[in-house]
Amino acid sequence: MNNRLYGNLIFELSHEGRRGYSLPKNRFGDYDLPRELRREKDAELPECDELTVVRHYTNHSGNNFGVNNGFYPLGSCTMKYNPCIGEEMAALPDFTGLHPLQPAETVAGAQAVCTLLCRSLCELTGMDAFTLKPYAGAHGELAGLMVIRNYHASRGDSKRNKVIVPDSAHGTNPASAAVCGLDVIEVKSCPDGTVDVDHLKGLLEEQGGEIAAMMMTNPNTLGLFEKAIPEIAQLVHGCGALMYYDGANLNPLLGACRPGDMGFDVMHVNLHKTFSTPHGGGGPGSGPVGVRKGLEGFLPMVSPYYGNFAVAMRAYAYILSLGRDKIKMVGPLATLNANYIKEQLKDDYLLPIGGLCKHEFVLDGLKDKSTGVTTMDVAKRLLDYGYHAPTVYFPLLFHESLMIEPTENESKDTIDAFIAVMRRIAREARECPEEVKQAPHQTPIGRVDDVLAAKHPVVTYRQLIAEKTIGEI
Ligand SMILES: *Cc1c(COP(=O)(O)O)cnc(C)c1O
Repeated sequence: MNNRLYGNLIFELSHEGRRGYSLPKNRFGDYDLPRELRREKDAELPECDELTVVRHYTNHSGNNFGVNNGFYPLGSCTMKYNPCIGEEMAALPDFTGLHPLQPAETVAGAQAVCTLLCRSLCELTGMDAFTLKPYAGAHGELAGLMVIRNYHASRGDSKRNKVIVPDSAHGTNPASAAVCGLDVIEVKSCPDGTVDVDHLKGLLEEQGGEIAAMMMTNPNTLGLFEKAIPEIAQLVHGCGALMYYDGANLNPLLGACRPGDMGFDVMHVNLHKTFSTPHGGGGPGSGPVGVRKGLEGFLPMVSPYYGNFAVAMRAYAYILSLGRDKIKMVGPLATLNANYIKEQLKDDYLLPIGGLCKHEFVLDGLKDKSTGVTTMDVAKRLLDYGYHAPTVYFPLLFHESLMIEPTENESKDTIDAFIAVMRRIAREARECPEEVKQAPHQTPIGRVDDVLAAKHPVVTYRQLIAEKTIGEI
């Protein structure tokens, strides 16, 4: 189909006087808006007929890539399984029509969803209380660290202004600590990718009295299970600090083990990762925070009302649709899928840390470094074959990180097809490297200048005209 006409900017399709709507006759008489509230001249809006508008946006939507288009092996921030039943439940008019200021006795059903979801999260994590208020994982980290800060302050312990964060941590961990006014101390990883306990001991010996908390992700950002957690928790508690668990990606542990049982005091989960809300484009999300008994009173107010209720609704539907027994399959299947891909790719791609992984793993680019083909080239080439790229250049521990998470719900056929394409790209890198370096060839837009796009985004039509960049776009 020829998308060209409708694929232009909507402003370029505009014709003066064209209308895509008709309004009923005004039965209420004219009302003059106060002069100071009025524009001096009309807003410059595109003028188009209805079909042009509908086709324009429909065709653009086809240029997006989402889990409903194809495999999406993005590690760490993965889009997990988003079953349709969750969307149906979240869209029930009895829930979507609610107002947060409605009298409590008229919203008993919604309150029950929140209460039961919190109870399920307590059961799954071993925490004693949850709040659904935070809007995202990072927001949950901030709320959780505020709990910890408030807890130390309540004991008159004002010297604890540092947080220990592993060097493999997700970038939001140190960022949240900084926003909370805490200094970040980095603890190193061992060559096997897990926290270096000896280094940690040294840090605690030197600065124990100033440490507010240690933040950990488990499985960590390399997809590895941190086996030393009980020992780490003992060391950290021993010097009066608390343990914070980043549970953004809880799926490999669901129903198998619980952060509360490992010695964590405060944690967040990402409902928009592990518990089924799609999160492309930055939201909406939900990062509930769980705490151990005795810390409930320190939870801060981080948002008005009840958080993102529709996300909670999807999470509760997801938990109920799996049930107590099937939810225990999530972790093993996520782990099996990740290990299967890892083993199939390790002949062509460099696997810096071998052994069993959990739900995700990291490759350090192609094994054959002589081709000059980088991780970015591989990621771009995957787009030509209809796959979303894995996470690239994160974690920062390796130069050519390529982080793959298949999730628990992909069929073996899908996974085998992805493996075949990854191997094919490795072969292309050897036989026709330029083809890979210039990819993508099949997408509407070729390779963009990432730095320019990030540092100097052109987001308005007028700016675009002014910069005369239309031809390039
Ligand atoms: C995604 C993620 C976060 C942050 O969650 P947001 O909802 O994006 O703020 C934190 N930690 C880990 C390990 C993550 O994967």
